[in-house]
Amino acid sequence: MSNTSATNRSGVTEDASTQRIAYRHPQPKDAFPEIVIPHAVPEDERLWVPQAKNVWFRPLCLSASRGYWVNLLRVRKSGVLSRHRHPQPVHGYVIKGSWRYLEHDWVATEGSYVYEAPGETHTLVVDDDVTEMITMFQVNGAMIYVDPDGAVQGYEDVFTKIDMCRKHFAQIGFGESYVEQFIR
Ligand code: FE
Repeated sequence: MSNTSATNRSGVTEDASTQRIAYRHPQPKDAFPEIVIPHAVPEDERLWVPQAKNVWFRPLCLSASRGYWVNLLRVRKSGVLSRHRHPQPVHGYVIKGSWRYLEHDWVATEGSYVYEAPGETHTLVVDDDVTEMITMFQVNGAMIYVDPDGAVQGYEDVFTKIDMCRKHFAQIGFGESYVEQFIR
């Protein structure tokens, strides 16, 4: 390898004269635009959509075409949040605070990554010593809310999330179309 070429991580050697040239062709005609949100944890309190008492979510990507959503979940004050079943996987990253599931002996602490397997039913709790927790979740398919025996009480999917956002953004004066920037 000379000093005029470099091997990238895929093992492709490229001449220095082309390394910094952007891909020079159009993106696929049917590809959706990217989403870039500078303050994912928002500075503007109004961007938190109320979900329940002391519970809010902040939409980041609402994938109507693929049936998943990426959002921040914020809980202030401790409490039992919800018992739910996941038909599809969930990925989480704890940004602040901590939480756990009654069904497991681990605690998701600040900086933790969590994978929740399809088929899991669990009960999210935030303990007394946590004043605020914020976690980014990518939820696929649906959250199915159940009682302790698994009887279905309700559900959420990307469409109920979009609906909640529309209502909230309309109510605070942003207009219900404000949610559209998050929908793909
Ligand atoms: Fe869960």
